[in-house]
Amino acid sequence: MLTTRFAPSPTGRLHLGHAYAAWFAADLAATNAGRFLVRLEDIDQQRCRPAFAAAIDEDLAWLGIPGDEPVRRQSDHYADYATALARLTSMGLIYRCYLTRRRLNAIFAAPHGTPAAGEVVFNTDAALPADERDRLAAAGAPYALRLRCRAALARTGPLTWHDRVAGSQNVRAEMIGDVVLARKDSPTSYHLAVTVDDAAQGVTLVTRGRDLFAASHVHRLLQALLDLPVPEYHHHRLITDSAGRRFAKRDQAVTLAALRAEGHSPQDLREMVGL
Ligand code: GLU
Repeated sequence: MLTTRFAPSPTGRLHLGHAYAAWFAADLAATNAGRFLVRLEDIDQQRCRPAFAAAIDEDLAWLGIPGDEPVRRQSDHYADYATALARLTSMGLIYRCYLTRRRLNAIFAAPHGTPAAGEVVFNTDAALPADERDRLAAAGAPYALRLRCRAALARTGPLTWHDRVAGSQNVRAEMIGDVVLARKDSPTSYHLAVTVDDAAQGVTLVTRGRDLFAASHVHRLLQALLDLPVPEYHHHRLITDSAGRRFAKRDQAVTLAALRAEGHSPQDLREMVGL
């Protein structure tokens, strides 16, 4: 059965971009007699608020797409992410990176200073002299737990995934790097939690914005390492304002709550986002 999901983070009120993403997933489920699920991605304890989680329920009910099953909250499933991380650790694919973001950027920035410096990196542990690493470890310094990407791909062999728009994709190390899967004080990352959850919820078609296209390379690699089923993907367009800017959570004017208070109906919103 086709199963799609909408997976917002409760860090602000939903806006038109979210409404589009939610309908995109819900419409596909409806036209295929499938399931549409809702998941709250609430692992960021600093930024997530219970009030925003409650508001998401309310907004989705107003849109008429509350989800076909009880909402899954990532904060209820830390044990599942820990199990997955332990498995990757036992394969020898996880290492501690003690570099701060600033040092990462300084060490790994390309000569022309790419803005993404510090994002796609490899073997960051080798950048610190062993004695400095030992000193930081002894002092209880914070660290990130990174996946050794090239070793992981050597273990899995070539991998592909399929996007309904862009077609077949070959997983490439340069799109992944040694991604952070957890930190000393945070037991999971977006990538690990999403991969574990999509499998646990039986999601067969992952729909999300094009801005997350590269993340699917990461998720495909994690699926292979953790023996999880491989969903299909559909990365959709992003909803922008009349000036072509993406909506952000700080744009109060286009929250669903504000549009509703102005007297707009869900049908009006569908037209606004071109559905
Ligand atoms: N929580 C993510 C977001 O709000 C979506 C994650 C996903 O669809 O994988 O952008």
